Amino acid sequence: MITVPKGTKDLLPQDSYKWQYIEKTAREVAALFNAKEIRTPTFEHTEAFLRGVGETTDIVNKEMYTFTDKGGRSITLKPEGTAGVARAFVENGLYAGAFPSKLYYLTQCFRYERPQAGRLREFHQFGVEFLGSDSAGIDAEVILFAKTFLDKLNVGNLKLYINSIGCKECRKKYHAALKEFLAEKKDSLCDLCKERLNTNPMRILDCKNPDCKEIVRGAPVILDYLCDDCREHFERVKSLLSAAGVEATVDPGIVRGLDYYTKTVFEFVSDSIGAQGTVCGGGRYDGLIEEFGGGKVPGVGFAVGIERLLLLLESSGASIPEPQPLTFYLAPMGEEERKVAFRIVADLRKAEINADTDYMGRGIKAQFKYADKLKAKFVGVLGSDEMQKGIIKIKEMQTGNETELPVSELAEFLKKV
Ligand code: ATP
Ligand code: MG
Repeated sequence: MITVPKGTKDLLPQDSYKWQYIEKTAREVAALFNAKEIRTPTFEHTEAFLRGVGETTDIVNKEMYTFTDKGGRSITLKPEGTAGVARAFVENGLYAGAFPSKLYYLTQCFRYERPQAGRLREFHQFGVEFLGSDSAGIDAEVILFAKTFLDKLNVGNLKLYINSIGCKECRKKYHAALKEFLAEKKDSLCDLCKERLNTNPMRILDCKNPDCKEIVRGAPVILDYLCDDCREHFERVKSLLSAAGVEATVDPGIVRGLDYYTKTVFEFVSDSIGAQGTVCGGGRYDGLIEEFGGGKVPGVGFAVGIERLLLLLESSGASIPEPQPLTFYLAPMGEEERKVAFRIVADLRKAEINADTDYMGRGIKAQFKYADKLKAKFVGVLGSDEMQKGIIKIKEMQTGNETELPVSELAEFLKKV
């Protein structure tokens, strides 16, 4: 038997309505915030992620699905959504529109990771990128967007953590202080962090290795190194959030430490689904568009992991509305009736009524059993007697009530139920 590749999952019919519900909610909230959808390819030139995600990240270092295509190009399956959006934004000259450009996406992502609950090799993200404004207002707006989405789904027990990682100038001073703090302990860092010490020391704070975690305890805090501009920006984000009633906890441990990530960073975290508790991560990236040759266009965004969101929804018992079951099942008694039934259900669908009939040659009893399984609201019976009179016998499955109706009145009747 051929099985799914490790770390991937089938989405089965009995679960797909949950995804549709999340996607529908995402699109509704996007509309409320006046964001437009953007879809970028599933794969990009590897270079896009080297630039757009950064060479000191776990993603680029360990997790990318990279291969050489038949034309000899290095191609990578997208590990996240932002780099493709930045590339598309520049390539298509989207700055020509009015700023801020509010974009959102729903996409699958690929990362070569050790699969566990909430951590897959193919997973899905709902993300936004708001481009063109450097105002603290748009940081708060993006955070409010994420919060509105999570609230609308009734995700309970989430905490919002925010931090500022400053600009290049603040970072320079901070990195010096961090290096000094780590100087004596650097031999005990993991190999990757030893490298990070030279390339991007702040990333060490985000390392998942327990030894590194222990070593950075008590390390200097970036917030103490912010320049006036970055400090004011952070204060303003906090005060806007508080004005909108959004509770946020400052956590200096949150870093998204690429050179072109700046100022605000944030995460929504749950402690009810174990280790993979971060459902949403985001922040400001004022240097990213420039990295793609697109000039000084600041940006801020977030991404929510849909699989983790679903785990959270299911663990918190939030209700996910189930799809409408079948409205009408028409059970023909024999071959002649089957032909007429086929035409009747075709007409019902033209009248926007969801209807089905038999294609398995089942007897009446078996058809009722089948209709019951489908949770059909009404079942109609069409025998030779009914055909002659031009009527249909109808049974409401929940009450057992039976009536007879002329075929010509069927659609009208079902429309009202
Ligand atoms: P983590 O620290 O858990 O590895 P991350 O920092 O790599 O997360 P981001 O790159 O910020 O995650 O991605 C945004 C969101 O996408 C995460 O908060 C999470 O919900 C989801 N996500 C990331 N990687 C995976 C994965 N391998 N499987 C499922 N969801 C994921
Ligand atoms: Mg990760």
